[in-house]
This record gives sequence, C-alpha cells and structure tokens, in this order.
Amino acid sequence: MLNIPISIHDDLIAHAREGFPFEVCGILGGTDNTVSATYRMTNTDASNEHFMMDKELRAKGLSMLAIYHSHPETPARPSAEDIRLALTPNVSTVIISLAEADNPVVKSYRITGGSVDPEEIILNL
Ligand SMILES: [Zn+2]
Repeated sequence: MLNIPISIHDDLIAHAREGFPFEVCGILGGTDNTVSATYRMTNTDASNEHFMMDKELRAKGLSMLAIYHSHPETPARPSAEDIRLALTPNVSTVIISLAEADNPVVKSYRITGGSVDPEEIILNL
C-alpha cells in the first residue's frame, strides 16, 4: 500500500504530460508507506542518479518508496523491460499512463524476482 497526497499524484501526471511524447521518471520519497516528496530525474537510465537520490533522501530522514516513470502511449502495466530493470528491493514501481490523454492512470506495483504484484494506492489530502 502506498499513501500519496493528491498534490503529488497531480504532480506526477503533470510531469508525465510535460514530458510527452517522451517517457519521464523520478523518485517518490517518504516515511513508512506515505509519500511526502517527489524528485524528478533527467535521465531515464539512471542507476547512479538513484543512488545519489537515495543518499539525499536519507539525509532528510526519508526513504525511497518508489521509482516512477510514464508510459506515454501504453497502459499502466509494467513492460518486460520494467520487470527486468526493477532491481531495487522494497521500492515500488509507479507507472503513469497517458494512453488515454483525458484519463491519466497512476498505478503501483511491487516487482520482485520477475513477479509482479499490484499495490494499492491511497490518495490523501
Ligand atoms: Zn514502463
């Protein structure tokens, strides 16, 4: 379960729309299962950037809760590539789909060792 403030949820959709038709990505930080910060990343192939962000989050007493990216044209389901690249344990994979431009969809998954479990997102004020 991931608790996401509506303002951050809206910001994820805004980020995905700004990047369209390209994919964007970033990190969600917070404590326990509650997101309180987003960090937009510039590079989609960014394991080094993940590492730096993780350090920065920890310095603020936050944990990396999720790595997000957009699917400009496809549904909010992990691709084979997403499953292959989801190597960070205990970090959720959040996908923002703009496949239906007027109805963006945000979904979260736990991906471990090639198996994909949908994770509930709860929106908070
Ligand atoms: Zn993807």
